[in-house]
Amino acid sequence: MTKLIYDAGIDASALEGQTVAVIGYGSQGEAHARNLADSGVRVVVGLRPDSSSADRAREAGLEVTDAGSATARANVVMVLVPDTAAPSVYHDEIEPNLTDGTLLMFAHGFNIHFGEIDPPGGIDVGMVAPKGPGHLVRRLYEGGGGVPALFAVHRDATGTARARTLAYAHGIGASRAGVLETTFAEETETDLFGEQAVLCGGVTSLVNAGFETLVDAGYQPELAYFETMHELKLIVDLMYQGGLQYMRYSISDTAEYGDYVSGPRIIDERIRAEMKQILAEIQDGTFAKRWIEEGRKGAPEFRRLRAENANARIESVGAELRSHMDFIGPKQAPEGWADGGREKAESIPGEGVV
Ligand code: NAD
Ligand code: MG
Repeated sequence: MTKLIYDAGIDASALEGQTVAVIGYGSQGEAHARNLADSGVRVVVGLRPDSSSADRAREAGLEVTDAGSATARANVVMVLVPDTAAPSVYHDEIEPNLTDGTLLMFAHGFNIHFGEIDPPGGIDVGMVAPKGPGHLVRRLYEGGGGVPALFAVHRDATGTARARTLAYAHGIGASRAGVLETTFAEETETDLFGEQAVLCGGVTSLVNAGFETLVDAGYQPELAYFETMHELKLIVDLMYQGGLQYMRYSISDTAEYGDYVSGPRIIDERIRAEMKQILAEIQDGTFAKRWIEEGRKGAPEFRRLRAENANARIESVGAELRSHMDFIGPKQAPEGWADGGREKAESIPGEGVV
């Protein structure tokens, strides 16, 4: 018995006659606004007056206004600005225009879970968090499919929060692929843990350490790059399609044996204990506090770490090799990004993944 909810289990009429304000028109905002509109939901997009995205939204046939006016007119307000910008957008523009009974929604639980945003009691609070980037949310919807999503209700003041949250998931096409109920706590904590321990932090540190081990031992950096970074995609694709077992079925017996005997020596008891510690610091709010304070100070540590990591040896070797591999579609962050010259949201629109 699946726990997921699909289109057939959702009453899409819960949003009938309601107006949805989509605040922000980046990766998720564009996809949500356009999918909802194509699903017959009345949508208004709330943006900064000087936003470069306003023209794109209008060209898509959407009505655009500022975040405050959009909120004032809406029954449902979906906050799709970067999580670091959301508290100030919420406090300055959204909260003063909220009326009781409005459903305030998010695509990630961070700000509600850690108390950066604390809406008044008469406000419903829900979440629909697609498990994929915005351009996929849009592209699959256009083709009749959808990106699966998590959904959660943090507060149900009206008695309609769950039905409206599900109808929203239906409207963006997520329930075509299935939606799974969660809580703001579970979504936030697992999302942060996944990106820190495995997807982003874990993988980049593993790749970098493997590369440096080979280069320090006197092997050619180009060869070390192929072995520790380039081939990673092949392995990950096999795992994505068929799990760990299918990947192991597809590699040589020698590689498979080495996997079993050496893998647990890399990810050993010390690493597992450290993973538990990282999870504990996410759960007790230590990480959130550190990141929020970092933001208040203007992110000096964050900027320093970004610049330092951009100088890793594997980066220059990799950039040169990739420039001769047109077939992989080489990409690079915009000039000056790592030195603080440009912000991410304006430099790589639509590329956010986790
Ligand atoms: P984004 O960076 O792509 O877009 C944010 C948009 O917000 C910008 O394009 C702009 O229109 C607007 N904006 C930026 N700064 C602003 C400010 N100071 N004031 C007002 N508007 C501003 O963001 P995103 O990746 O779409 O993320 C939005 C939400 O979706 C976040 O909560 C994120 O965690 C969540 N989410 C993202 C993804 C993803 O793959 N990108 C997946 C699931 C959930
Ligand atoms: Mg994340």
